[in-house]
Amino acid sequence: MTANGSAPTGMSIRLESGSASDRGLRRELNEDALIAAEPIFAVADGMGGHEAGEVASGICVRTLRESGIPGRLHVVLSADGLQELISRADRNIREATGGNAGTTLTGVVLVEESGYPYWLFFNVGDSRTYRLRHGELAQVTVDHSEVQELVDGGRITAAQAHVHPRRHVVTRALGAGPDTGADFWLRPVEPDDRILVCSDGLTGEVAADRISEILQTVADPGEAAEALVQAALRAGGRDNISVVVIDARDVGVREEPGDAGHPGRHALTEDTLPRRRPTDTGNNAVVEDAAAGPEGPLP
Ligand code: MN
Repeated sequence: MTANGSAPTGMSIRLESGSASDRGLRRELNEDALIAAEPIFAVADGMGGHEAGEVASGICVRTLRESGIPGRLHVVLSADGLQELISRADRNIREATGGNAGTTLTGVVLVEESGYPYWLFFNVGDSRTYRLRHGELAQVTVDHSEVQELVDGGRITAAQAHVHPRRHVVTRALGAGPDTGADFWLRPVEPDDRILVCSDGLTGEVAADRISEILQTVADPGEAAEALVQAALRAGGRDNISVVVIDARDVGVREEPGDAGHPGRHALTEDTLPRRRPTDTGNNAVVEDAAAGPEGPLP
C-alpha cells in the first residue's frame, strides 16, 4: 500500500447500464421499483396488499436516489455507511406505511477504495445480484428466505426450493418485520465484469443457465435487460419482473512505477479481500454462508 500522498489519484473506469421492468402477466400492479443512477444500482420488490408494496419499494428507491450518491464519480463508502442509508429507507417506509408494507432491496454501488474500483454489493430479502465474469455467472447475494434456510440446513435441494409452497416467504425486509440488516460483499472490479440485479420475477421464471446465456449473447446492457424480462414473460410472467444490467468498461488504474497495483490482481482469492462488518446491526457484513448462525442482538 502506498501512503495517501503518493496513492493513485483515482480509479479510471466507465460504467454502462440498462434496465427494464414489467408488471408481468398475472399481477395488476408493478410493485417492483429500480434505480440505475451511476454509481448506485438497485432493485426493490415491494410486498403488502392494496398498493402498499408499491409504496414501500418506491420510498426505498427514492431514499437511494436522494442520498447524494447518484452522479458522484468517486464514492468512498463503507458497508457501515451504506447500512445507514438502508436503515434510513427502512425508517422512511415505516413512517409512511405504519409497518404494514415491506420491500426487498438488492444491488451494488461502485465505490473507490484506496484509489481502486470495487463493487459494494448489498442485500435484504430475496431479490438477487449476480456477477458475470469470464463466462461464469455467479450469484453474489444470498437470499433471506425460508427456503434458503431449508437449503442451507440440507433439508431441501435448490431444485425443490424453486417449487416449494413457501418459496416467497422472506426472512428479512425493509419497512416491516424485526430483521432489516443488510448483508454486504466487497469485491474488486475486473475489466468486463457484468452485473445483474433482479427481482424474483426473473429468477423464479428463468433458469440460471438461460439467464447466463442471454447475458453472454446480448452485448448492450439495456437490450440484455429487456431480453431477460421478455424471457420471464414467455416463461409465464407470474410476478413483477425487474432487471438492471451494469457493465464495467475501460477499467484501468493510474499506477505509478513500482506501485503495488490493484489488490485484486495480486490477491485473486476472494477470501483475502477487505471485509466489512456494520457495528450497528449485529449481523454479518459479509456472509458467504447465509446459515452463519443466529443474529446478534439489536441495539
Ligand atoms: Mn417478486
